[in-house]
Amino acid sequence: MRYQRSSALFAEAQQVIPGGVNSPVRAFNAVGGTPVFVKYAKGAHLYDEDNNRLIDYISSWGPLILGHAHQEVVDRIVEQAQKGTSFGMPTAIETELAELAVSMVPNIDQIRFVNSGTEACMSAVRLARGYTGREKIIKFAGCYHGHSDAFLIQAGSGAVTFGSPNSPGVTQGTAKDTLLANYNDLENVKELVQANSGEIAAIILEPVAGNMGCILPEEGFLEGLRALCDQEGILLLFDEVMTGFRLAPGGAQELLGIRADILMFGKVIGGGLPVGAFAARKEIMAHLAPLGPVYQAGTLSGNPLAMSAGLAMLTHLKNNPDVFNSLDAKCEQLADGIGSILKEKGIVHQVNRLGSMVSVHFCEEKVRDFASAAKGNNEHFMRYFHGMLDRGVYLPPSAFESYFLNDALSQSDIEFTLDAVKDLYS
Ligand SMILES: *Cc1c(COP(=O)(O)O)cnc(C)c1O
Repeated sequence: MRYQRSSALFAEAQQVIPGGVNSPVRAFNAVGGTPVFVKYAKGAHLYDEDNNRLIDYISSWGPLILGHAHQEVVDRIVEQAQKGTSFGMPTAIETELAELAVSMVPNIDQIRFVNSGTEACMSAVRLARGYTGREKIIKFAGCYHGHSDAFLIQAGSGAVTFGSPNSPGVTQGTAKDTLLANYNDLENVKELVQANSGEIAAIILEPVAGNMGCILPEEGFLEGLRALCDQEGILLLFDEVMTGFRLAPGGAQELLGIRADILMFGKVIGGGLPVGAFAARKEIMAHLAPLGPVYQAGTLSGNPLAMSAGLAMLTHLKNNPDVFNSLDAKCEQLADGIGSILKEKGIVHQVNRLGSMVSVHFCEEKVRDFASAAKGNNEHFMRYFHGMLDRGVYLPPSAFESYFLNDALSQSDIEFTLDAVKDLYS
């Protein structure tokens, strides 16, 4: 059996960890079967506990844009570990990473480091509320901003004015301040703003969505949101936890040419260690403690090990901007390759891609928001996922997740992957 040891480890884990995992999507609930336990990884390849080699298309859900155990990142972590792993006092390395991030990302003067994307988004919304003196926020169905209460709201059927909690434990009181809109639907947002005039602190979104598959903003959507925010005194928040330092050195803002007021980061900025961050112009950031009244803190925030990994990662990306072209070319080859095989086999599908983010949806309609993404054939997705896994390719175990390519992927890895797709449908 291919996953004997993973199965045993999963059974053991389930005794002491709820569902056997520390983050739900790892549990394979959407695709069935046993999660794969990793032993080690190098470059684009994962090696599991049963000694199978897998080509990795999730890259730890985004952070490992250069591949696993990249030498420059590992060296910096090891070097720092010898000097101490946490002090609870300021270090020069935090300023170094802050300066580097500010130099790469458009429209920010200052950045505050936290420990996860969740924390970054939660803190950014608090800052937006403190800055504007308003309470409500608009988020989009299908966009993920971490697991804090205000964001665990999804569109109930037809209920667009007031969100309803989709996780027990989120109070009605919290839910009523989160208004839901449909992605790529500017009119919908305008209606919400009009109906709640003067009450909206922030509009928050993934500028390129990656948590309902990969969904691109349509022409005029982000421009329209920017104009609406300017007109109404609303802050525009780009959640660049996935897209930051991935789509371009300056993230989606740079690639798409739209400026947001507060930016949130995670994933790549930590180089594979737990880091999140939020950033804005000085006049907004000045509202944060200890300068201002909006409180935000963290015992391990700016942790030297994590900062070292982030610094090695961003330094490499800044000095080697060709990484982004290389990733784009690899992802194009993969997306076009998968698309043409599926077409040849007469399989109904959509491929969405931007840069190194791509998703395959088994449906007829163009996928442009959560409702269209939800029309994908999940039975087919499960067969596709497991078929690829059996052939040595690890794809995201959910139809609602984007693939994240890493630049360690070689030409032969991509050919191996396309051969696996061909073989699966032969
Ligand atoms: C992953 C992700 C988050 C949450 O980050 P965590 O580090 O998992 O808390 C927030 N927003 C987006 C867009 C993400 O992809």
